[in-house]
Amino acid sequence: MVIVMKKQATERQLSRVLARVEEVGMQPHLSRGKVRTIIGVVGDNNDQSPDTFESLEGVERVVPLLGPFKLASRDFKKENTCFSIDGAKIGEKKIIMIAGPCAVESKDQILQAALAVKKAGAVALRGGAFKPRTSPYSFQGLGEDGLKLLAEARDVAGLAVVTEVVAPEQVPLVSQYADVLQIGARNMQNFALLHAVGESHKPVVLKRGLMSTIDEFLHAAEYILSHQNPRVILCERGIRTFETHTRNTVDINAIPVLKSLSHLPVIVDPSHGTGKREYVAAVSRAAIAAGADGLMIEVHPDPEKALSDGAQSLRPEEFQQLMDDLRPVAEAVGRYM
Ligand code: PEP
Ligand code: MN
Repeated sequence: MVIVMKKQATERQLSRVLARVEEVGMQPHLSRGKVRTIIGVVGDNNDQSPDTFESLEGVERVVPLLGPFKLASRDFKKENTCFSIDGAKIGEKKIIMIAGPCAVESKDQILQAALAVKKAGAVALRGGAFKPRTSPYSFQGLGEDGLKLLAEARDVAGLAVVTEVVAPEQVPLVSQYADVLQIGARNMQNFALLHAVGESHKPVVLKRGLMSTIDEFLHAAEYILSHQNPRVILCERGIRTFETHTRNTVDINAIPVLKSLSHLPVIVDPSHGTGKREYVAAVSRAAIAAGADGLMIEVHPDPEKALSDGAQSLRPEEFQQLMDDLRPVAEAVGRYM
C-alpha cells in the first residue's frame, strides 16, 4: 500500500508514521516530492488494513495496491483453482453441471430427478433438505430425512450430492451426507456459518447474496478460505435489481470480473437467476460463453407439482435438450460438457 501524507504534514508526524510501519513488521520506502511525501509500504504482513495508518496524524489517505481479500485473490494465486467433486474436476476444461430439484420432496421424486440428470450428463445432484424460505409458512424441507434420501439417490445414480446448510450447528450433520455444502444467497454473510463450513473441509458452493457486491462476495469466500478450506466454488445466482420480468438479474459481468479478481471456480445458477423456466437455456448459454466453469440448474420430474420453485424448474427432457444445446457453445469457447 502507499501512504500519502498531507501537504502540511510535519516531520514529527512523518517519523511517527514511519515508526508505525516498522512496528507492524513492514518496511517503509520514503519518497519526498516537491509538494508531498509518500511512503510505499512493503512486506509480508499483508494482513494490515489501511485503517492501521489512516488514523495517524498527517496522513491524507492510504491507497491499497493489492485487493482487500488475499487468499481468494489472483494476486495471491495466479493459476485457476481446480478440485475434484466425486471424480469430476471443476475449474478445468469440462463444464460441470449440478442439477436436481429445488427441494427433496419424496423418495420417488429425488430418485427420478437423480436418474434423469445423470443420464443427461450432470456430475452432481442438487436438492435442499433444509430450505431457507422467505416465508415461515412455506415448505421448509424434509430435514435429515431429506439428507438420507439424497444419500440414497447418490448411491443409485452415482452422483455427488450438493445440498444447503443453513446453520453452523448443522454443518456436522449435513457433512455426513453431502459431498458439497451449499451456502445459500441469504446466508452469504452469515459469518458463523462461513466459519463452520471453512472448518468442515468439504467443498463449498457459495452463492452470491441478493444484494451483494462482488467485493462482498469475495470477502465471504475469504472467510471460508481463511478457515483452512481452499475448495470454494463461487455461484452467481442473480442479484436484485429494479427489473420485475425476472425473479433476479443474472450478473453476467460478474463471471469475467470474478475470474480476473480470483482464482476460484465460478458457476452460474440461471434457475434462481431468472425464476422462469423459459429463460434458463438462453442464460445458461450466455454463462458458458462468458467463461463460467459450470451451471446449477433446477430440474424436477413434475414441476407443476413441485413444493418450491416449480416455475423455474426444467422437466427432465428439457434438461437433456439444454445439455445438447450447450455442447457447441462450450466447444466454441474451448470447453466441453
Ligand atoms: C437454492 O439453490 O436452493 C436456493 C435457495 O438458492 P438461493 O440461495 O440462491 O436463493
Ligand atoms: Mn430453488
